[in-house]
Amino acid sequence: MVSEQKTVDVNFESLLRIFTVPEGPDSTLTQIEEKLSQNLNQFLREHIVAEEKPLLEIEKDFSNAHIPEQPEFVSEHTEHLLDSLVAHSVHTASPSFIGHMTSALPYFLMPLSKIMIALNQNLVKIETSKAFTPLERQVLGMLHRLIYQQDDKFYSRWMHSSNHSLGAFCSGGTIANITALWVARNNALRAEGSFKGVEKEGLFRAMKHYGYEGLAILVSERGHYSLKKAADVLGIGQDSLIAIKTDHHNRICPQALDEKMSELKANKILPFAAIGVAGTTETGNIDPLKEMAAICRKHNCHFHVDAAWGGATLMSNSHRSLLDGIEEADSVTIDAHKQLYIPMGAGMVLFKDPDAMMAIEHHAQYILRKGSKDLGSHTLEGSRSGMAMLVYASMHIIGRPGYELLINESIEKAQYFAELIQQQQDFELVSQPELCLLTYRYLPQDVKQALFIADKGSKKKLNNLINELTKFVQKKQRETGKSFVSRTQLNPEQWDELNTIVFRVVLANPLTTHDILQSVLVEQRQIASLAPKLMAKIQQLTQEILA
Ligand SMILES: *Cc1c(COP(=O)(O)O)cnc(C)c1O
Repeated sequence: MVSEQKTVDVNFESLLRIFTVPEGPDSTLTQIEEKLSQNLNQFLREHIVAEEKPLLEIEKDFSNAHIPEQPEFVSEHTEHLLDSLVAHSVHTASPSFIGHMTSALPYFLMPLSKIMIALNQNLVKIETSKAFTPLERQVLGMLHRLIYQQDDKFYSRWMHSSNHSLGAFCSGGTIANITALWVARNNALRAEGSFKGVEKEGLFRAMKHYGYEGLAILVSERGHYSLKKAADVLGIGQDSLIAIKTDHHNRICPQALDEKMSELKANKILPFAAIGVAGTTETGNIDPLKEMAAICRKHNCHFHVDAAWGGATLMSNSHRSLLDGIEEADSVTIDAHKQLYIPMGAGMVLFKDPDAMMAIEHHAQYILRKGSKDLGSHTLEGSRSGMAMLVYASMHIIGRPGYELLINESIEKAQYFAELIQQQQDFELVSQPELCLLTYRYLPQDVKQALFIADKGSKKKLNNLINELTKFVQKKQRETGKSFVSRTQLNPEQWDELNTIVFRVVLANPLTTHDILQSVLVEQRQIASLAPKLMAKIQQLTQEILA
């Protein structure tokens, strides 16, 4: 937007004003705030433009590396933000945006976030976060109880104990997973005799002391990529994150896990942690947690459950049994910014044993003194915001039964969509939803038939063409801006484990209706017909195979 710029004097008086009095009631910012609080969804619909602006074009709006010498008025700058930033943001709250784990947010979190930012508490230490620290500890207690179901005595004893931690609040599942594995590593290589522990002497000496040739972390091949980062930063190396094969429901094969652990130990490699996934990112499946827990006990190995996405299912009394065995985990990751409907930047890791986190305890002189209640002595992150307040508020405002309804509704919607897909002659459901996540693709009946009977060579060729079509449809749908599904690659058993590109759908937005789901399929079918050349190739090969 090109407007005549009024110049702002840079003087201290005017600077002081930005810390004290806001602009008047007619200012753009105030108007926007009002619109936002009156109708959140309308605000988003009005201000985000539907058609996609190419990323390269957007980059041009953000290509100046100079820090402005000429300050702008707040309102003027707000207009600029609306045009260049808000307009081209992704409408994650849209009910037809069903491709990601990022969903709509309850309206009350906007004004509450404002209070949180206004207070600007730093949860690293009590001095800057009185009241917020006990609140965060209570939130961790709530999530701990949701998983481990200890009695009230347990929580009154440990929740606010200065030398213990039921877990850590952090920015997301990645940091939560790193924290869990950090604790597991330090506990596995703890101080002993003259050895002062891996946290003091480092990995090299720890290995020499214990006589290991290496360390390993085990997870199914559907494990989240954040675990690779964890293996890297913890000095174990990405190659030592070992992928265990999965069955055709994308669940880890327990026997393969057990055998791999024995094999590693025979080679003097210590499998110090195994990770069960409760809700894989690609297909939403849940590993057999109980069996994994037993294997980990047998091998004396830390059992971590990555329930970043699926953990919220525990809120539903009717579905929590899907995660049976999670209560046997030594640690669990849950993201509140996924199915607990909290804005981005809210992850948690919980530990069964209130002593576990002592393995990563840090102290300093001016803060985090021994015996203080500073949360920073048990977190990877330093300065941290009061995000826990939003989780706390949602727990009270929505309540456990409210979350149960949300979770049940999502799972039912996924089952409805799965049935709808199966009713179509020209779509294939690739993975059944266990939670509210499923995958599918556009696959006309005759093509499917051909794919079934084709020999190995033509099967691969035909499948590759279908993959191209899936990619085309997904991209076009996103660009058109009416709806959005994501895509990923799977290796389904029914197709001889060929690389298969699929649409991936996460049905967590409560505002998504059955009508919307129906129209998503209609739109995809339409888009497929916009690729006549590709369709002709697919048809030709299909006819050849069927002839
Ligand atoms: C989202 C997710 C993560 C990573 O969490 P972030 O919040 O993105 O850091 C890890 N594991 C699983 C299974 C997830 O779904």
